[in-house]
Amino acid sequence: MQRFQNYIDGTFRDGDTWFDSVDPATGVAWAQMPEASESDVDQAVVAADRAFNSPDWAGLTATARGKLLCRLADLIAENAPRLAELETRDTGKIIRETSAQIAYVADYYRYYAGLADKIEGAHLPIDKPDMEVWLRREPVGVVAAIVPWNSQLFLSAVKIGPALAAGCTVVLKASEEAPAPMLEFARIFDQAGFPNGVLNVLTGGPAVGAALTRHEKIAHVAFTGGPETARHIVRNSAENLASTSLELGGKSPFIVFEDADLDSAVNAQVSGIFAASGQSCVAGSRLVVQTSIKDRFLEQLKQKAEAVVIGAPDDMRTEVGPLCTSQQRDRATDLVARSVSQGAQLITGGKPVDRAGYFFPPTILDCSDIPNADSLTHEFFGPVLSVVSFDTEDEAISIANDTRFGLASGVFTQNLTRAHRMIRSIRAGIVWVNTYRAVSPIAPFGGHGLSGHGREGGLQAALDYTKTKSVWLRTSDDPIPDPFVMR
Ligand code: NAD
Repeated sequence: MQRFQNYIDGTFRDGDTWFDSVDPATGVAWAQMPEASESDVDQAVVAADRAFNSPDWAGLTATARGKLLCRLADLIAENAPRLAELETRDTGKIIRETSAQIAYVADYYRYYAGLADKIEGAHLPIDKPDMEVWLRREPVGVVAAIVPWNSQLFLSAVKIGPALAAGCTVVLKASEEAPAPMLEFARIFDQAGFPNGVLNVLTGGPAVGAALTRHEKIAHVAFTGGPETARHIVRNSAENLASTSLELGGKSPFIVFEDADLDSAVNAQVSGIFAASGQSCVAGSRLVVQTSIKDRFLEQLKQKAEAVVIGAPDDMRTEVGPLCTSQQRDRATDLVARSVSQGAQLITGGKPVDRAGYFFPPTILDCSDIPNADSLTHEFFGPVLSVVSFDTEDEAISIANDTRFGLASGVFTQNLTRAHRMIRSIRAGIVWVNTYRAVSPIAPFGGHGLSGHGREGGLQAALDYTKTKSVWLRTSDDPIPDPFVMR
């Protein structure tokens, strides 16, 4: 079986122990991954801390850091087919999407390469005539980055890119469910010419994540994953007082008004919930549809859902591949069964596909009469859509906001004034109007409430990896007046 290695201080290392990585399309182990030990975690953080303070990295100009990131972006673009193949093999995400997404990951690094020398300080118009005061923006220090299995190359790019642009160093823990793409990414990173220790990549489970996030030399934890894990991380940050950015789950409303372009809304809803087999934090998993068009909309949606091509993820024709793990498949199965027992009406799907691997079909549950159904409150992280209907705009807003999550939302209407009212009223970090699941390195991304805090993407993300230093310079040659009075 193929073996992968951890990347610590510019060297590739075996683990003391290994674990199998399973191909979700077959359920069969295909590669062995090194479980990082506590000592590996410590060595990686110490290496990142040394690099952070070394002239080789700290002494580089921001422009030079940008050039290194640019070189990395070129290497990612060159190696995109191999990275896509590995991500598909290890996670089951379809090759159609991994190919497109990884090519775009290179653009994320390019964006942050360009931003490196645009992270500016400020000069302050201070209220004292004999002082010059300015703010320096300095990197926060060593960053612990933790990612889940879905879209790891993408979710790590929005951490590594801004962190390195700002001058930080990083220890990244890949998901134990599918670490191959990140461990291969480390090999590509190694060719870009960064000093040793600037990026370290480890894998392993919760114990590795816990050891990393509570390490005394960690200054910031950038986490993507579930709310329960986020609570552990926040507790750990009580040890080192690291700042945190948390990109968590969602139960995003997809709202369709009767005046919407229905063909377009149906396609967007299919993409919003069935793409990536629903394993997307921004999945539009609650369809909130106006009663007057509900039957027509659901009929069109059902037809599309049943026509979806389910198949091997490495086949370009496949539209829905397997879920990443057997636990994910079983969880989706249980949640659907529970919701049906609570009164939800199963419109299509609902049971695992009868083939090897962890396949679950596009599933639609009508929960219109049971607003407290589990399927409306729990994140499936699978291709399961729960439907609720509304009559008035106010009702739509109240259903949309009836969640502790607040990551994404979609509004489909041709009415411009209504669109603006909805944009103002929805509590979520992203509102897509007449589109869904669009992303860009230029646009910040993140949520409210149980969906976390902090933003990834855009200039703000790079600033979040910096802290300010206030500098005071006295310009008078006169002796300092009364030393007992604060000036
Ligand atoms: P998870 O929280 O179980 O695991 C995520 C990562 O955290 C893994 O690498 C895991 O090993 C690590 N981890 C587990 N316990 C830890 C601990 N005690 N300390 C430190 N690290 C620990 O999440 P998952 O089930 O792998 O991924 C699915 C979740 O991720 C969903 O809730 C999904 O919505 C969320 N997600 C959010 C975004 C976003 O950008 N908002 C994107 C993708 C996924």
